[in-house]
Amino acid sequence: MAANRTFDIIVVGAGSVGTPAALALAEAGLKVLVVDQYPSVGQGSNKRAIGGLRATHSDPAKIRLCLRSLEIFSTWEARFGDKIEWRRGGYSFVAYRNEEERTLKELLVFQKKYGLLVDWLDAESFRKIIPDLNPEGLLGGTFSPGDGHASPLLAIHAFYSRAKKLGAEFLFNHKTTGILTAGGRVRGVRTDKGDYDAPAVVNAAGPWGAEVAALAGIDVPVRPDSHEAAVTEAVARFLEPMVVDIRPVAGSANYYFYQHDTGQVIFCITPCPSIWGMDVRETSTFLPMVSRRMVGVMPRLKNLRVRRTWRGLYPMTPDGFPIVGWARELEGYMLAVGMCGQGFMLGPGLGELLTRVVLGTTTEDDRETLAYLSPYREFKGQEKLK
Ligand SMILES: Cc1cc2nc3c(=O)[nH]c(=O)nc-3n(C[C@H](O)[C@H](O)[C@H](O)COP(=O)(O)OP(=O)(O)OC[C@H]3O[C@@H](n4cnc5c(N)ncnc54)[C@H](O)[C@@H]3O)c2cc1C
Repeated sequence: MAANRTFDIIVVGAGSVGTPAALALAEAGLKVLVVDQYPSVGQGSNKRAIGGLRATHSDPAKIRLCLRSLEIFSTWEARFGDKIEWRRGGYSFVAYRNEEERTLKELLVFQKKYGLLVDWLDAESFRKIIPDLNPEGLLGGTFSPGDGHASPLLAIHAFYSRAKKLGAEFLFNHKTTGILTAGGRVRGVRTDKGDYDAPAVVNAAGPWGAEVAALAGIDVPVRPDSHEAAVTEAVARFLEPMVVDIRPVAGSANYYFYQHDTGQVIFCITPCPSIWGMDVRETSTFLPMVSRRMVGVMPRLKNLRVRRTWRGLYPMTPDGFPIVGWARELEGYMLAVGMCGQGFMLGPGLGELLTRVVLGTTTEDDRETLAYLSPYREFKGQEKLK
């Protein structure tokens, strides 16, 4: 039990979003409590992420948030000393068909407008960056050298340690079971181990986001769907960028893989149709499906041995964008849910944005970002680069 029961703000969820948010809030001098149902940080979706970090998105909100996240990840070790296995390997989107070439080139115009360092490379130049790509039918692809990857577990532990150093308190094995209110506004949270008071509560409950919103009588369209991933043995470096193939094939949409800083190849695939629900038991269909596709684009991968597979949840929204902002239904209740497949890369940038929202110090850019992520948008669009 926390020694003190009264805080400036309580964050529900010590995951990819809640932990860096707690850090940013504590940095701003607020008295923060984070509660999580599990025994330690990152035990929800965070530890199941494969570690990809990119700003190469198709909308200004994610571009801005992830550019800031990349700054935080890439300078973390130099500033605070923790190794988070950050590596600026870049991201590459491959094109083997005219459809993907067209989509990627269309997006490029927009991405450049927002200051992203990304370019189209023809097949020959592309293979200079990724020499092992299957040359047969390769048209080229986009490459963004500023993107990279890091370890989700090491990064969240680094954020957690620093947040604690700055005074944030964390309570594990505490499940939030209710939101306390008085006079139509937030008064605190009820957990299975006791009540805690604060005039503001952030719902950063990831795949459980809708459940925790419902505790406040708020309906949010966050629905978890499951994705599988795997890691191979570690081998000598042969690959720098994340390779993303967005061609849809029966049974799967895109898939992506990269060689981690420590030598293992890590990969995952987006099932099509989506597999809705909270089931995180591994399947026997994932590995044959993804390895066939991966060996197709990079034949050399057939020599690698897979060490482990796992399955985790994307907290999905109908349009593929997060849901962020104060709830109109209950004063003092903030939503930071629906991160889809990008919560790890959004987390640090989003944590700082949430802090500016709480302090009332948002900029014009922030307000544009928040409009994209508004809980009250129509959810009609579709993200182009999932
Ligand atoms: C296979 C796979 C690969 C992925 N790869 C990437 C990637 O490369 N890059 C990337 O950016 N993202 C990736 N993701 C997505 C990323 O993991 C998620 O978007 C992100 O972790 C969501 O962050 P979150 O903080 O919203 O949720 P979480 O990290 O799940 O945190 C939510 C926390 O809330 C807690 N909680 C929930 N309900 C309660 C309650 N009632 N009381 C107390 N605590 C509660 C949970 O225990 C949990 O710790 C991947 C996901 C999967 C499954």
